Amino acid sequence: MKADIIIRNGVIVDPARAGQTTKDLVIAGKLIAADSADGWEAKETVDASGCFVTPGLTDAHVHVFDTGSELGVKADCLPPMGVTSAVDFGSAGYVNFRGFMRECVERSDVRVYSFVNVSPVGPVSLQRPEDVSPDGFSRRKLAELKEKYPGRLLGLKLRLGRETAGDSGLETLQAALKLSAELHWPLAVHVSNSPVPVRKIAALLREGDVFAHVYQDRGGDSILDGAGSVYPEILEARKRGVIFDVGHGWLNFSIETAQRSLNQGFGPDLLGTDMSAVVAYRRGVFGLPHIMSKFMALGFSLADLVSLCTVKPAALLTLMGSAPSLKPGSAANIAVFRLETRPVVFTDYHGASLGGNVLLTPQLTVIDGKIVWRQFGFDV
Ligand SMILES: [Zn+2]
Repeated sequence: MKADIIIRNGVIVDPARAGQTTKDLVIAGKLIAADSADGWEAKETVDASGCFVTPGLTDAHVHVFDTGSELGVKADCLPPMGVTSAVDFGSAGYVNFRGFMRECVERSDVRVYSFVNVSPVGPVSLQRPEDVSPDGFSRRKLAELKEKYPGRLLGLKLRLGRETAGDSGLETLQAALKLSAELHWPLAVHVSNSPVPVRKIAALLREGDVFAHVYQDRGGDSILDGAGSVYPEILEARKRGVIFDVGHGWLNFSIETAQRSLNQGFGPDLLGTDMSAVVAYRRGVFGLPHIMSKFMALGFSLADLVSLCTVKPAALLTLMGSAPSLKPGSAANIAVFRLETRPVVFTDYHGASLGGNVLLTPQLTVIDGKIVWRQFGFDV
C-alpha cells in the first residue's frame, strides 16, 4: 500500500490511548492511515527512534495579528514549536477582524481560532493600549462576525488592566459580561494589574468564560489571599465551569504563585504561552514546549501536559470537529519531540528561578499530512 510519509519507531504519547508505546505512524493524504508500517511504502520516511510523537499541540493563548498589531507575531513561528493550532487572544476587534482573518489566519498552515476584542480595534499600538470603554462596543457588528466565521471565533476578549480600563474596571467588566450574554458567547478576561480585585472578577465569571493569566500577581493581587491560600471565589468559579488559562507571557506568571497554587491542587485548564512580539524568542518565553518543560519542573508529567495542550483546549473551547489524536483515521497533525535530560533554569519577571532537568525540544511538525517544519539535523 502506498503512503506519503511514515514516521517510524517514535514513542507515542496520545491522550486518546493510555500509556506510551513505540509505533509507526503512516500518513496518507491528510490523514493518519495506520499505526504500523507493515505492508506500507512511503515517499518519505522519518526515523523518530528515541523521540516522543504527540498530536500537534494547541497553544491556547497567542497574538498572531502581525500585520495589524505591534503585539503580533507571525503564526508561522508556531510550527517550530510543535504547535499546529492556536487561539489568538483578542488581537483584533470588530473593525479590523476581517483583515486579520485574510492577512494572517487564512494564509497560515496553523489553524488559528480567535477571541475577538470587545474594543473596536484591539491592541494596535504598544504605546497606547486599546480603548475598552463600553460606548465603543457594538453588538450588531460583533453578531455579524459571529455569523461570518462559525467554528473559528470562540467569544469576546476583554483586557481588564489599569492600562486599558483605568479605574472604571468594574463597569467595563459588567458591560462586557452583558454583551457576551446577549451574543450567547463566552467572555475571555485578561486578569492582570486589574483595577477590580481578582477574586471579584472570578466571582462574576460564568461557565465557559475564560480567566487568563491564572498565576499572575501584578499590582499585588493574585488568586491567592494574604496567607497564600487560593481564594474561595476562585475555587467556586472552577466548580461553576470557569476556565483558567496560564497565558504565561513574561509579566503574567509568577513562579511562587504557581507553586503555591499547584501545592493546593489548583492546576490550569489551558496552557497558553501568550506569545507576542514583546516576548517571543526572548528569555522566559521560547514557545509552548519551553513552558511545558517549565511545568515538568513544577511536577507535571509529559502525558498530562500533552493532554493540556491537545484534548483539553479542544473540549473546553469547543475547537475542531473531533479531539486531536494519533489513532488511524485522525487528521495528520503531528509533533515529534526529543526530551533532553540536562539541567535547565526557568525564571520569572521577579527574578525567581526554578530548576528543572528536562527540556522538550521540537524536531518535526506535520500539519494536514504535510511536513511544515523540521529541525535541521533531525534524521538527516
Ligand atoms: Zn495575551
